Amino acid sequence: MSIDLSLDTSINNYAVFGNPVKHSKSPQIHSLFARQTGITLNYQAIEVPHEKFGEYVKLFASQKGKGLNITVPFKENAFSLCNTLTQRAELSGSVNTIWFDEQNNIHGDTTDGKGLINDLTINNGIDIHNKSVLVMGAGGSVKAILEPLCTEKPEQIVIANRTISRAVQLTEKFSVQGNIEACSYAELSNRSFDIIINATSLSLAGELPPVPETVIKNNTCCYDLMYSDMNTIFMNWAKEQGATKVFDGLGMLVEQAAESFNVWHGVKPDTVSVIENLRKSIGNSRR
Ligand code: NDP
Repeated sequence: MSIDLSLDTSINNYAVFGNPVKHSKSPQIHSLFARQTGITLNYQAIEVPHEKFGEYVKLFASQKGKGLNITVPFKENAFSLCNTLTQRAELSGSVNTIWFDEQNNIHGDTTDGKGLINDLTINNGIDIHNKSVLVMGAGGSVKAILEPLCTEKPEQIVIANRTISRAVQLTEKFSVQGNIEACSYAELSNRSFDIIINATSLSLAGELPPVPETVIKNNTCCYDLMYSDMNTIFMNWAKEQGATKVFDGLGMLVEQAAESFNVWHGVKPDTVSVIENLRKSIGNSRR
């Protein structure tokens, strides 16, 4: 059966490929960026069948597709499909931004990590330099954030994960970038950190990582990669332990999109107004 992407070939097309993808905020974010910068484009969310990722990407390119964002579960498939990769995509083993050249060659980048760093440092004024950082989780998002985190020159990064071997693998891969160590959650007792990043998928299930409350000290910044229409369970827990600088991942989402927009159009849109717009639209005005 032939695939119909229903693209308007008279206009430059962009899309996010995922499965599921209906929930994606990317069409809204990119439409706001386009309006702000006066760039005409069509951006839609396309649900791609699991076994047809490569086929869909090539078809999209052939129908005036200019660029793609890639979300769960295809970031590693995208990495394998690309003809060229940026250095940060190569290191992370994942791709969330694709663009095509005249010959329909596929080029890949990852902007998730830069998105997190921009949200932490620019939007929220958190200085990472010389700070101790705890990263909880060792999945796809952590692969993407480690290199940009190291670029900020923290004193130390500790990766805690349920499956410790995955954390160890990451320390082996990224140890040339900075001072990184792996440990179990139990080994965190009696240790505290300046910055704690929850990169597990636990908030989605309304659960907390098994982390001792002593990891939080005066002035610890707590950041949950997840966002929703209200504070995540991790954010509430962090506040109960006395943390005052507590953030969700909505800013990261918008910042990674802005980096993709810049890759495609060579223009960096304003993100603050878009983050505000999104918070209003999902009914989340609390920080
Ligand atoms: P992955 O599925 O790749 O990794 C999930 C991580 O959570 C693993 O480290 C896993 O540990 C851990 N985990 C899952 N269940 C448990 C449990 N019961 N107990 C302890 N640890 C557990 O997910 P991603 O890295 O892609 O995404 C993580 C989160 O970040 C998601 O909530 C996602 O929505 C969010 N995200 C947000 C972005 C943004 O722009 N704001 C961008 C990307 C991601 P183990 O290795 O042991 O399985």
